[in-house]
Amino acid sequence: MGVDGLRKSYGDKEAVRGVSLEIRTSEVFGLIGPNGAGKTTTLECLVGVRRPTAGLIRVLGFDPAGRSLELRRQLAVQPQEGTLFPQLRVRETIEMWASFYSQPMDVDQVLSEVGLAEQAGQKVKALSGGQRRRLLLAVSIVGRPKLLVLDEPAAGLDPQARELLWNVIRAHRRAGGSTLLTTHDMNEAAQLCDRVGVLVAGKVVASGTPAELVRDLGGLSTISFTTDAPASLAAVRMLPGVSGVRTESSRGRVLVQVSTKQGDAVLKHVASTPTLNAMDLSVAHGGLDEVFRNLVASASKDSGDDKAGGSDESS
Ligand code: ATP
Repeated sequence: MGVDGLRKSYGDKEAVRGVSLEIRTSEVFGLIGPNGAGKTTTLECLVGVRRPTAGLIRVLGFDPAGRSLELRRQLAVQPQEGTLFPQLRVRETIEMWASFYSQPMDVDQVLSEVGLAEQAGQKVKALSGGQRRRLLLAVSIVGRPKLLVLDEPAAGLDPQARELLWNVIRAHRRAGGSTLLTTHDMNEAAQLCDRVGVLVAGKVVASGTPAELVRDLGGLSTISFTTDAPASLAAVRMLPGVSGVRTESSRGRVLVQVSTKQGDAVLKHVASTPTLNAMDLSVAHGGLDEVFRNLVASASKDSGDDKAGGSDESS
């Protein structure tokens, strides 16, 4: 399931410009991208609450524009701002949602999974922001959906709630369900998502497993060491894959930081060159956040600054 060639314009502003994504069964797919990249718009088109300008959308075998009841039973959506009934109690809210489905989860189990067991008797209007988000998650999962669509589910959650959220999503995956989520947290994308798509200015600029993206698009390692023979650094600068060498005086020696895509080869050279007399050798590998920063920087350079104003539109 997924979208193919998806486009969406608001007035003359093209927010999504030909996005193709596939979400596989039983995987967690993360959509990452800077503010305004088109993530929410893509999600909204995918779940059928927004009409695309162009493109094909297929979700669990359905075109979401058909608003089929069958699809709605198998699809759960947690928007960034969901509406709940303030006068209902937490347990009543989950029970109400459970009543819409033929085989809902046990309400106590849901309360415990999202960490709201203690608030079960509390009115929704008395919940904190993070607790409201936990409740929105609870009503998303209670119907055992096949596809869970979560727009920035971790926003505003404390570390413990984030851990609970990740556990809920992993349990959903173990039960065979798929998840599509957006996040600004690269650690979350790297740890939780099986695959990620990077959206910049309405276009997918990269996709793959977090490990593939880091291997193929990042992989800048920083090799640090101290030396008392900076003249020998000329050979290091010439090594293939070295993109920068920074030096700084440090307690009678020179602290060196080498940025390179070929960390292993540089490390070997440094460690096996006696004239360098390298000490305090350490290696740090760049992660998904470095890949993300680089992708955003180069995509923004390519596309120019697209700040055309759009009109408000609600469908
Ligand atoms: P964020 O990370 O900030 O949530 P996003 O990647 O989800 O951003 P969208 O909310 O999809 O981005 O917005 C994409 C672009 O479309 C933005 O430039 C935004 O201003 C514009 N946009 C979104 N909704 C509307 C609307 N109803 N009317 C006009 N423009 C809109």
